[in-house]
Amino acid sequence: MSIAENFARVREQIENAARRAGRNPNEVTLVAVSKTFPPEAILEAHAAGARELGENRVEEAGEKITAVNRALGAQKPRWHLIGHLQRRKTRDAVKVFDVIQSVDSLRLAETIHRAAGEVSKQMPILLQVNVGNDPNKFGFDLNAREAFLREVEKIVGLKHVRVEGLMTIGPLVSTADEARPFFRDLRILRDALRQNFPNARWDELSMGMTDDYAVAIEEGATIVRIGRAIFGQRNA
Ligand SMILES: *Cc1c(COP(=O)(O)O)cnc(C)c1O
Repeated sequence: MSIAENFARVREQIENAARRAGRNPNEVTLVAVSKTFPPEAILEAHAAGARELGENRVEEAGEKITAVNRALGAQKPRWHLIGHLQRRKTRDAVKVFDVIQSVDSLRLAETIHRAAGEVSKQMPILLQVNVGNDPNKFGFDLNAREAFLREVEKIVGLKHVRVEGLMTIGPLVSTADEARPFFRDLRILRDALRQNFPNARWDELSMGMTDDYAVAIEEGATIVRIGRAIFGQRNA
């Protein structure tokens, strides 16, 4: 199957999942995750309609983003950083990405705030939450809920970042349905944060990947991040 066919099929399945849940399919943004794939594959996805792209590493993404943006000019897509960001790479990330979905600590948010301030930008961010408390995953730890809320209070006060919502990586499970309670928890947390911190937007719920995006959409995802179902298996 070509990237174009894959992309069309994923779009259709997003629409089906949204309709099943009584939602408007336009509420769900598809981020095509192009990590490990070359600019040519990204341009193919763009030609098929991909307008939001996701990359997980700043160094790998930098060159690809430059090449793709140059090829597309005014049609350039929006770039989402979805992988863990080391603080020393923050300046580069702020330069090339349009959204940072993977903010997993107060210190990182403060570093992004400073870097964005230096270039008079306000950086859209999502807070990554470790819903399954998986020791192998990044993200805020909800077991320490009071500490989390204190950090959120500080983050929403930073002028050069704009908190738009939450992101999570679903747990590794054998059937997508087992991920459902985790996605539901993320939505409940988002609703609570919206009550507690009305000065931030909290519109976005980035959850759902190739194996579980239909379930995530049924539970309220506004952003799904899909790699393999569009670009094929990754070797790396
Ligand atoms: C790789 C990756 C994805 C996409 O995963 P697929 O299973 O290929 O759809 C989504 N989110 C994050 C954070 C990733 O690192």
